[in-house]
Amino acid sequence: MFNVNQTREDFPILKERVHGKPLVYLDNGATTQRPARVIEKMTEYYLRYNANVHRGVHHLSNLCTGANERARERVRDFIHARQAEEIIFTRGTTEAINLVAYSYGEAFVNPGDEIIITEMEHHANIVPWQMLRERKGAVLKILPVRDNGELAMEELPRLLSRATRLVAVTHVSNVLGTINPVRQVIEAAHAAGARVLVDGAQAVQHLPVDVQDMDCDFYAFSAHKMYGPTGVGVLYGKNELLRKMPPWQGGGEMIKEVRFEKTTYNDLPFKFEAGTPDFIGVIGLGEAIDYLESIGMTRIAAREEELARYARQQLKTIPGLVLHGEAPRSSPVISFGIEGVHPLDAGTLLDHLGIAVRTGQMCAEPLMRRYGVTSMIRASLAMYNTLEEIDALRDGIRRVITLLRNGPSTLQHR
Ligand code: PLP
Repeated sequence: MFNVNQTREDFPILKERVHGKPLVYLDNGATTQRPARVIEKMTEYYLRYNANVHRGVHHLSNLCTGANERARERVRDFIHARQAEEIIFTRGTTEAINLVAYSYGEAFVNPGDEIIITEMEHHANIVPWQMLRERKGAVLKILPVRDNGELAMEELPRLLSRATRLVAVTHVSNVLGTINPVRQVIEAAHAAGARVLVDGAQAVQHLPVDVQDMDCDFYAFSAHKMYGPTGVGVLYGKNELLRKMPPWQGGGEMIKEVRFEKTTYNDLPFKFEAGTPDFIGVIGLGEAIDYLESIGMTRIAAREEELARYARQQLKTIPGLVLHGEAPRSSPVISFGIEGVHPLDAGTLLDHLGIAVRTGQMCAEPLMRRYGVTSMIRASLAMYNTLEEIDALRDGIRRVITLLRNGPSTLQHR
């Protein structure tokens, strides 16, 4: 059994009040909260052990280097990668995807080559490929989304061709919550000779992930969406592929030997980690993984499934509320609109009730267009949310509707 009260104790921020009301934090898709132990671990390193990694022979430097590399091993184990060298630390998902677009693009993408993305991607998995298109003369193809929020998988064979170099797909949609059939995408792409990057930003905190079983070529995610610190993320890449890719940033740590005439580059993973990394952030990520595993990803998935089911049920009782996307396999990310109510008005009024939801385009403008709207309201749940908080959201929305329908809005967002 999942003990929600005990879990909430791990997150001091959940006791905060907002506008005099208990905080109901339903914006976990944007960033989750951090348990005290992650913050304490990082504080301990700043207060007692701080020294730059990989550079010193002295005690503190060795301590931090050891902790940084142990965290790499924790990440390897968490996503079931084969080797620690396949784990590259980045600033986040965005930087991880840009690394691949730049470096893989440099080595493997030529004019006329094709990249396939989907209609439900976050801007972080769209814009780097558009930039590659401009740099290399590549062609960008789009796999559409069905009305119910699933990928139109029947279109994939038609889009794949001998010119496809890479398919970039999100594991879980940050708007619709859809869990995509990434194994099926990967099998089809590999059969066509293409590589696959999976954006795991909305997946690793909800589901057990096994990159070897999935057989993806790249997998990207951010620590701050999985109870870890901001400023740190991960790119997993297959060793044989990463070896063939050129470094994308130059500087300290990514080199073996520097001469003015020629520089030789370091081995994996350091070849892709130029400059001082956020090693204390990395140590915080390792602690977040320990925390997640102390609960168990399977238990977390089951708990969140129950929350998501209840939330969808409750939201459906509200007249005029339209859920966007109801794929059979989904995570606890729920986006919706309300007839006659602007999402920004709803978000602002909910905030006054202490309820934090996301409103706007969710960094997925093409998907907004696909659903014929300019913005949505999103409640993204995490394991520490409660059924009572979902009730508060339901009742809050009912109040917002009454307020906004009974007179002109005094809010100025329209
Ligand atoms: N991809 C998805 C699916 C996301 O939801 C997000 C963030 O919301 C990102 C990528 C970008 O993550 P970050 O801003 O941590 O780099």
